Amino acid sequence: VYVLGIETSCDETAAAVVKNGREIVSNVVASQIDSHKRFGGVVPEVASRHHVEQITLVIEEAMNRANLSFADLDAIAVTQGPGLVGALLIGVNAAKALAFAHQIPLIGVHHIAGHIYANRLVTEMKFPLLSLVVSGGHTELVYMKEHGKFEVIGETRDDAAGEAYDKVARALHLPYPGGPHIDRLAHEGSVTIDLPRAWLEEDSYDFSFSGLKSAVMNTVHNAAQRGEQIDAKDMAASFQASVVDVLVAKTVKAAQEYQVRQVLLAGGVAANRGLRAELERKMAEIEGVDLVIPPLSLCTDNAAMIAAAGTILFEQGKRADMSLNADPSLELS
Ligand code: ATP
Ligand code: MG
Ligand code: FE
Repeated sequence: VYVLGIETSCDETAAAVVKNGREIVSNVVASQIDSHKRFGGVVPEVASRHHVEQITLVIEEAMNRANLSFADLDAIAVTQGPGLVGALLIGVNAAKALAFAHQIPLIGVHHIAGHIYANRLVTEMKFPLLSLVVSGGHTELVYMKEHGKFEVIGETRDDAAGEAYDKVARALHLPYPGGPHIDRLAHEGSVTIDLPRAWLEEDSYDFSFSGLKSAVMNTVHNAAQRGEQIDAKDMAASFQASVVDVLVAKTVKAAQEYQVRQVLLAGGVAANRGLRAELERKMAEIEGVDLVIPPLSLCTDNAAMIAAAGTILFEQGKRADMSLNADPSLELS
């Protein structure tokens, strides 16, 4: 089964071909980061315009690298949501046009299902499993009993982890997107600044990062008013420790309570070295649960993950028709 995946939910224009939902045949990502950098974040109109310019080229490139023609495809899977509506529309309309022209089944995919299914490009998924989804817009613990069924057992009540990274980076005058920069600085600094950790209620798997983010901003601001400068490395290390402590502790606790066989890491923040290392360390202490961490290129937005998630829907007989529409606030479960 060959599935072409298309992803345009944010600032990456991506297309990929995946075989049998497990094997990457081609994987093309055109990033727009350079265009958004000077604005310090993603500008929706700029994103849409880039997607329009890139989408045909990126799909062609993915098909060429796969050495396939459209007649060889079993389905086209496209990110339907959530994301920026104008950006999503470019991918959805490209997918619809190709599906219609070549009479290929069309499948709408949830972006976060895609992030989770990036793990299936690494290894076979074993149920029940737990996925920690940490990205620019989401921070969730997702429990899965079988393919295609998602139960959100905890989620952020305010900022997403990636959002907190990007805002803290901005306060430290680091370029957008800030996550990788904080990650790098954190490894050069030490945890010397006392910052809050939002554990919330004892039995809750929810998260909260806005208090932590504000604490960092206040500390930086207050130091500036005293004419001092906060050591960015130590601040990065302290902030990262606060985020990672809570993410890892809640994930390990949920893995035990739900008696899962696997824990999957997913989303852009899964690229974080501090998080990967700490999760590996803590998961090694509990028996019978495998930890899966995708390579960096499959953590951030890509279309191979969309094709992988789409393949499951295809095999379950799910099909979209020409009424498929972008849904910026599509629900996972
Ligand atoms: P969503 O998937 O929720 O719709 P998105 O697609 O914009 O949001 P992703 O592309 O999955 O988000 O992830 C981007 C986020 O990951 C950014 O916030 C970025 O700062 C963060 N990120 C990337 N690399 C790292 C890293 N090494 N450490 C921490 N954060 C990182
Ligand atoms: Mg992105
Ligand atoms: Fe994403």
